[in-house]
Amino acid sequence: MTANYGFDTLQIHAGARPDPATGARQTPIYQTTAYVFRDADHAAALFGLKEVGYIYSRLTNPTVAVLQERIATLEGGAGAVCCSSGHAAQILALFPLMEPGRNVIASTRLYGGTVTQFSQTIKRFGWSAKFVDFDDLDALEAAVDDDTRAIFCESIANPGGYITDLPAVGKLAQKVGLPLIVDNTAATPYLCRPIEHGATLVVHSATKYLTGNGTVTGGCVVDSGTFDWAASGKFPSLSEPEPAYHGLNFAETFGPLAFTFHGIAIGLRDLGMTLNPQAAHYTLMGIETLSLRMERHVENAKKLAAWLETHPAIEAVTYAGLPSSPYHNRVKTVCPKGAGGLFTIVLKGGYDVCVKLVDSLELFSHVANLGDTRSLIIHSASTTHSQLSEEQQKAAGAAPDVVRLSIGTETADDLIADLDQALAKATA
Ligand SMILES: *Cc1c(COP(=O)(O)O)cnc(C)c1O
Repeated sequence: MTANYGFDTLQIHAGARPDPATGARQTPIYQTTAYVFRDADHAAALFGLKEVGYIYSRLTNPTVAVLQERIATLEGGAGAVCCSSGHAAQILALFPLMEPGRNVIASTRLYGGTVTQFSQTIKRFGWSAKFVDFDDLDALEAAVDDDTRAIFCESIANPGGYITDLPAVGKLAQKVGLPLIVDNTAATPYLCRPIEHGATLVVHSATKYLTGNGTVTGGCVVDSGTFDWAASGKFPSLSEPEPAYHGLNFAETFGPLAFTFHGIAIGLRDLGMTLNPQAAHYTLMGIETLSLRMERHVENAKKLAAWLETHPAIEAVTYAGLPSSPYHNRVKTVCPKGAGGLFTIVLKGGYDVCVKLVDSLELFSHVANLGDTRSLIIHSASTTHSQLSEEQQKAAGAAPDVVRLSIGTETADDLIADLDQALAKATA
């Protein structure tokens, strides 16, 4: 698919073609575990990566392959690997880069689950994370040491909707010779294209806006194809003979697709965090309308944030689409089509009023999800960010007096009316 088509065309067509067996216009769900080899030579060639084709659905599947190509195209990447969740995507992204003793520098403003994954669980692999305020570029640069193998942030940070200065962080990553990994879940490629700002890898929780309707758990890693894995000698899994694949040198053999092939041939093969074809189908259906939904998410979020900002029960609204946000000036460069549909509100009444608000809403759903067509609300401090210390909660924008809203695509006036009645009850 040529790069000349517009986003609205690519979100429907990229990666897909009429099914070669039946002519089916919609991408079939290839609900199969394995694929018949033409003969023994064909099987040996596939296993040796001498020929690209389908072997076993833990590694590759035609439905999943269409989704991979579609997301890679929308992000402007060379290739992509889909996997079973956003959290799996983060491990899959770090896996070829890290070894025991290595570290990743991560933003303090990350999804709470990622803070826990990075501060606790990856230690079991001998990896570690250093958390830095990415608005402080000097601190970010100072945190880089000889064992650092990646820099990790979110384009639009969950839950606060804060916007990372991707052009500046991208430039810094280039200066220190490290891959920048951007979690683009809250922005989607419609609002933000991190590779254009210097990201090496883009990770997604496809669970959120990409699928868009709360039916799937899925993830994806997109490779820009632009990082020189051999230049520093720091990434032997990609630039030297890989012992887990009978000595294959991925960078020499696959060039700009080195990371993608490694992610499938080693990552999915040995870690097994595969996306199933049914889930890939739902996500493909979702992506067909991504731009249309994101436009409405942004339009509604703007209206609701502006209304909430004037409400007497509200201390602050963090939406970067509001002129009052300290991140407002980054919208133009980082996410020119809008600041997304996610933000938090700080309530004057603190924890108790937050909980009453959540319990009094009728149209908003109280769930641990975001990026749904439905409007969603959650009190982060007692849920998604409950594993964090109070200091970490505050840094992540999830203090006890904060609730997170994920604004859906319903009629904006209905959402305002629901918030109005619930705020009245919560503060009565
Ligand atoms: C939800 C989310 C994740 C984790 O994704 P799962 O699909 O739930 O594993 C990672 N990053 C961000 C920004 C998220 O919102």
